[in-house]
Amino acid sequence: MNIPVFVPHVGCPNDCAFCNQRSITGVLEAPAPEEVGVIADRYLSGGKTGGSTIAFFGGSFTGIEPELQRRYLIQAKKYLDAGKISGIRISTRPDYIDLPELDFLAEYGVTNIELGAQSMDDGVLAAAGRGHDAEAVRRASHMITEHGFVLGLQMMTGLPLDTPEKSLATADEFIALGARETRIYPTLVMENTRLADMYRAGAYLPQTVEEATGLGALLYEKFRKAGVKVLRIGLSDSEELKGGCVAGPYHPAVGELVVSRYVRNQMESMVEDNRLDIRAPKKYFSKIIGPRRCNALYFTEKGVELSLSEGETPVVNGKYVLEF
Ligand code: SF4
Repeated sequence: MNIPVFVPHVGCPNDCAFCNQRSITGVLEAPAPEEVGVIADRYLSGGKTGGSTIAFFGGSFTGIEPELQRRYLIQAKKYLDAGKISGIRISTRPDYIDLPELDFLAEYGVTNIELGAQSMDDGVLAAAGRGHDAEAVRRASHMITEHGFVLGLQMMTGLPLDTPEKSLATADEFIALGARETRIYPTLVMENTRLADMYRAGAYLPQTVEEATGLGALLYEKFRKAGVKVLRIGLSDSEELKGGCVAGPYHPAVGELVVSRYVRNQMESMVEDNRLDIRAPKKYFSKIIGPRRCNALYFTEKGVELSLSEGETPVVNGKYVLEF
């Protein structure tokens, strides 16, 4: 479990075409460092300790003023030292990482560093106005893994000039760079961003939900096979996100769509005699059937008879194992 502490736009002088942190996080002000404990206590109040990380999300943590970073981390480290959490996670930009910063983060107990890489294609990065190139991601990733942190690399799909091939190549390079965690974000056009202006001017065509789902499933498969943990697919849904989204593949449960598409892709290769006899633990039923029964309907339309019953492991037609 992550205990999220959103630090929106604090210290960020950049202006990425897609970014409006206020709409994305739904939080207008960064919490004071002293509030970190209040947030953590609220999450830990159920008595669960030891397995969670305090996660500073929402902006570029290492871009904020060093004294403020220190004040945030002191609060989080108290929970780490007390054994109430298992780690501290930060997210930042690749060009805001250097060796002194990594020494500093290590001293204050940071365990996981996530970089908003977004793409490993320089043309896509330039079109998104990221202000850094793919080489910056490579450089920062090497420093992070060599320092012993868990490296997370976040990517976006459907950015201007992006293609499914470039996204798949980005995933390949994340794996080669030693990422152990990732997040996949289909690009949404948020109000008050340059991307919204581009969209309204007809200069940018966002992905559809179907395109984002299909590509997301291929990326999910790639990462899963490589042992890279997919921490999240799509931004957390909220009224602010929904209300601020001008266009793009908005869906309240895009992650569920992607995972059930990944399952559907496997099932497709397991059809025999137009049948899919599936035995699986009940907890997997919703992923097999899909949101709003989309997978079940897909196979019905193709004339494939799908039967589903409870079993210990997810097996199709008595011999193929489904992965989730
Ligand atoms: S995406 Fe990150 S780096 Fe870009 S403007 Fe938003 S907070 Fe700043």
